[in-house]
Amino acid sequence: YHAKEEGKFYQFYHRTINQRLIRETILESHLHRAIERDEFILYYQPQYDLFTGELIRLEALIRWYNSELGWIRPDQFIPLAEKIGLMPKLDEWVLSTACRHRKMWKQRGGVEADLSINLSASHFQIPGMAKRLLSIIESNGDDPCRWEFEVTEHIMMQDSAVVYENISQLKEAGVKLAIDDFGVGYSSLGYIKKLKVDRLKIDRSFIKNLPQSADDQAIVAAVITMARQLAIDIIAEGIENETQIQLLKEMGCKGGQGYFWSPPISETEIELLLHGAE
Ligand code: C2E
Ligand code: MG
Ligand code: MG
Ligand code: MG
Repeated sequence: YHAKEEGKFYQFYHRTINQRLIRETILESHLHRAIERDEFILYYQPQYDLFTGELIRLEALIRWYNSELGWIRPDQFIPLAEKIGLMPKLDEWVLSTACRHRKMWKQRGGVEADLSINLSASHFQIPGMAKRLLSIIESNGDDPCRWEFEVTEHIMMQDSAVVYENISQLKEAGVKLAIDDFGVGYSSLGYIKKLKVDRLKIDRSFIKNLPQSADDQAIVAAVITMARQLAIDIIAEGIENETQIQLLKEMGCKGGQGYFWSPPISETEIELLLHGAE
C-alpha cells in the first residue's frame, strides 16, 4: 500500500462524485422538459389472487426514455423529480395516462381490470391534491372505486392535517389506499388504522430470500397476521417462484405480484393479457 495509490484513490473518489453530480445535473435539465416532450411511458404489472389465480389489478409503473440518455430507471429519476418539485405534475400525468389506457382497453373489449398507481408521499401535503386527482378520474368517465393509490410510509413522517384531508376525500370518493414497500421505513403502526389503509404491500426485500431466510419468514408471517387481524388486505411483491407462493399461501397472504407471472409490460401487451383473461 503506497501513498501514490492513496492519491489514486482520492482522485478516483473525487472523479466519481463529480461524475455523479454531472450526471444528476444533466438528468435534471432533461427531466424538466420530459413531460412536454412526451418521454414518459407507462408499463403495467399484473397482481394475482394466490388462491384463485385470478387477475386482481394492474399496477402502473413509469418508464423514461430520452433519446440522448437512453432508458433511465425510476429509482434514479423519481428522487430527482421529487427534488425539483415535479412530482405533482408527474403524478397527474401518470393518472391521466392510465385513465386513457383503461378506457381504451375497455373499448376494445378486454376484461375490465382495476388499476393501481404510485403517488409521491409529498404530493399528499398539497392542499387540493385529492380534488385535482379525482377530477382527472371523473373527467375520463371513470369510477374512483376502480382505483388504488399506493404511497410509501413516508406519508406519515409529517403528521399533517392536509394529508388527512386529502386522504379522507379520496377515501370518501371510493379510492383504495395501499401502503407500498411496507416494512422498510417508518415503524409506527398506529397510522394504518388512522388512515383507513385498505392494503399493505410487503416489500420485495422481505420476499426475495424466502424460503431460505428464517428471519424474513418471521417478519412476513407477523405482518400477515397483523393485517388479517386488522382486516386489511395484503399483497406480496417480488414473487419469483412457486415455493414462495406456497409459503405465502400457508401464511395466509392473499395477493401476489412478481416476475413469476410477469414483469411490468407495455400497454399493448396488457391489452393481449386482458383479452386472454376472458
Ligand atoms: P414499487 O412500486 O415497489 O414497484 C415494484 C418494483 O419492483 C418495480 O420496479 C418492478 O419492476 C419491480 N419488480 C416487480 N416484481 C419483481 C420481481 O419479481 N423481481 C424483481 N427483482 N423485481 C420486481 P420499477 O418499475 O423499477 O419501479 C421502482 C420503484 O419506482 C417503484 O417501486 C416505485 O416506488 C417507483 N415508481 C415506479 N413508477 C412510479 C410512478 O409512476 N410514480 C411514482 N411516484 N413512483 C413510481
Ligand atoms: Mg408500487
Ligand atoms: Mg411496491
Ligand atoms: Mg418496492
